[in-house]
Amino acid sequence: MKQINPQTSKGPDDWFTGDVHPTIVLAGEEPSRVRMGSVHFAPGARTAWHSHAVGQYLHIVEGIALVQERGGDVVTLHPGETIYTAPGIEHWHGASPDSFMVHLAIWEVPGDGGAETTWGVHITDGEYRQAADARTGA
Ligand code: MN
Repeated sequence: MKQINPQTSKGPDDWFTGDVHPTIVLAGEEPSRVRMGSVHFAPGARTAWHSHAVGQYLHIVEGIALVQERGGDVVTLHPGETIYTAPGIEHWHGASPDSFMVHLAIWEVPGDGGAETTWGVHITDGEYRQAADARTGA
């Protein structure tokens, strides 16, 4: 057995807008390439646009989450719900404007050893407000 002591740090400004604290819960022992993070978002905080080489599952633990794929509707998710984003699909995720949000994120390092996540531009305050106003599934 091996006990894991998760490490928390403030998410880098290049990847997040607002106060976001990811905790890497586990990084799978080879041959596993699984990764799991528990990510705390303050109200209004969100990721930049990004994609995952091997896709990603998000499981909402607390609060209200907003998730959007490029060109798609803004989806509202609640605790206990899980959403999957396919490999290479650009998307962002974050808290709603008036609630904290915690999700688990599960993804993998690609088998070729390449980048697990590719980061893009931030969601501007205007884009975020528009997304929050247009959300569905609330
Ligand atoms: Mn993601």
